[in-house]
Amino acid sequence: MNQQIQQSALDGPLFPMMIGGQAVVTGSSFAVLNPASGEIVGYAPEAEPSDLDAAVAAAADAFKSWSSADDSVRAAACLAIADRIEAHAEELARLITLEQGKPLAGIGSMFEVQGAVGWSRYTSTLSLAPEVLASGEGGHVEKVRKPLGVVGSITPWNWPMLIAVWHILPAIRSGCTVVSKPSPFTPLSTLRLVALMNEVLPPGVVNIVTGSDGAGNLGAAMSAHAGIRKIVFTGSTATGQHIMRSAADTLKRLTLELGGNDAGLVLNDVDPQAIAEGLFWGAFINAGQTCAALKRLYVHADVYDAVCEALTAYVANVRVGNGLDEATMLGPISNKMQFDKVVALVESAKTKGRVLIGGTPGEGLFFPPTLIADLENGDPLVDQEQFGPVLPIIKFTDVEEAIAAANANPAGLGGSVWSADPQKARAVAARLECGTAWINQHGMIRPDAPFGGTKMSGLGVEFAQDGLHEYTDLQIVIS
Ligand code: NAD
Repeated sequence: MNQQIQQSALDGPLFPMMIGGQAVVTGSSFAVLNPASGEIVGYAPEAEPSDLDAAVAAAADAFKSWSSADDSVRAAACLAIADRIEAHAEELARLITLEQGKPLAGIGSMFEVQGAVGWSRYTSTLSLAPEVLASGEGGHVEKVRKPLGVVGSITPWNWPMLIAVWHILPAIRSGCTVVSKPSPFTPLSTLRLVALMNEVLPPGVVNIVTGSDGAGNLGAAMSAHAGIRKIVFTGSTATGQHIMRSAADTLKRLTLELGGNDAGLVLNDVDPQAIAEGLFWGAFINAGQTCAALKRLYVHADVYDAVCEALTAYVANVRVGNGLDEATMLGPISNKMQFDKVVALVESAKTKGRVLIGGTPGEGLFFPPTLIADLENGDPLVDQEQFGPVLPIIKFTDVEEAIAAANANPAGLGGSVWSADPQKARAVAARLECGTAWINQHGMIRPDAPFGGTKMSGLGVEFAQDGLHEYTDLQIVIS
C-alpha cells in the first residue's frame, strides 16, 4: 500500500497519519518545503486533538497484547522493520534530502537510512531477561523489567528518520507501544517510515500524528496527555524544559536528548594537516545541524596558526549545493528560522573575530562553511548553540585554561581532545563535563554504546541495554 494521496486542491502529495493501522487524513494539512529550492515537497495532516486521543487509545489497546507477546516476536519485528527500511532505502533517502536538505550521498541521507537499518537490527539483539539478585536459603530475589505502556516520541528536524528509529525501536522492543510526532519541518520521511512499519506490525503498535507548532501544539498536548506514560524527546533544551514541566502532573517518565555546544581541545603536539579532515567533519556534518557536532574549537597557541591554515585549506574545497547533486558535500540550512539564527550569530562574531573563510550568506537558505578565529568565551557564537555550518576558533596557552573554558558552558553533550599522545588526551577527556568524550575524532555514535547528555543537555540515555531500560518499570520479586 503506497501511503501517498494526491488531493486535487493540493499541489503535492499528502502523506497520511497512521492510527490503529489505518491511514488517516484530516480536513487541513500543512506544506513541507524543500530548503534547497523553496518548493513544496508534500503535505502533512494537521491533527485534531481527537486524532491524538485516537492514537493514544489505539496504542493503549495494542499494548495489551504487544506487552505480553513472546520476546522472540518483538525481536523479529525489529528485523522485519530493518528489512522494510532497507527495501525502501532510496525512496526514504530522497525524501529526507528533499525535506531536510542534506546530501543524498556521502555522510547524508543514505547514510542516515543505513544507520536506521543498522540500529533496528542491533535493537533486535537486546533483551529484558529477568536478573536473579540472590537465591538460596535466604530467599530468591529477582529483578524484572516491565514495559511502561504508551510512549510518546517527539523528534527534531536534523536527522528526522534516524532519531525516530532511535525512539521507536527500543520502545517496541521492550513491549511498549508508540505515538510518534515528527518535527513540522520534516514530517514526511517519518510518516513514510511509520507506514512501512505498519506493514509488519500489528495495528496500533506504532502510530503517528503530525501538526504544525503554534496554537494547539501537538507536542505540548502529548506531554500533558494522561494516556501517555513516557515521553522520549530529542530537540532543544527550551522545549525539553517545557515538556518536563507539563509532564509533572502525570509524573511521566522522560528521556530528554537536548541541545549541545561541544568543545574540541587541540593540544600542542598535533599534526595540523593530519587532523584537519576529522575536525571539519566533526563540526560540519549535516551543515553543522547535529546535536553532538563540534561547536567550539580551542587550539593551543603553538599550533594555532597551522591548525587555522589547514582547516581553511580543507574548507576551501568543500562543495555546497543541492543535496540531489552527487558532488554536494553540504546542503542548505534546513529552515528559515535556523538560517536567521546562524546569520545573526555570524554577524555579531564578525565585529570581534577574524573570518578565515565563508561568513557571507548565499542564495536562499545556503550558507557557506565558515571559520571565525580569535573569538573567546563570552562571544555569542561561542556561548550559544548556533547549530549551523560555522566554527568559532579560540586560542589558549594553558590546557587548564582550555578545560575550564570548555566546562564553563551549561551544555554537556559531547567533547573531544586532539593530541598525538593518547594517554595525555585521555586524562584531559576525563575532565570534560560531557556525556561522550572522543579522542582524535568527534561525533561517532554507536548502537552498542549508551548516549546522552549531562548538565543542560539532557536526562537519561539512549541505545544499548541502558537505553532499553528507560522504556521499563523495574519490579523486584522476592520469594
Ligand atoms: P525543537 O525543540 O524546536 O523541536 C523539537 C520537537 O519538539 C519538534 O517535533 C517540535 O514540533 C516539538 N515541540 C515544539 N514545541 C513543543 C512543546 N511545547 N512541547 C513539546 N514538543 C514541542 O528542536 P528542533 O529545532 O527541531 O531541533 C534542534 C534542536 O535539537 C537543537 O537544539 C539540537 O541540539 C537538538 N538535538 C539534540 C539531539 C540530542 O541527541 N541531544 C539530537 C538532535 C537534535
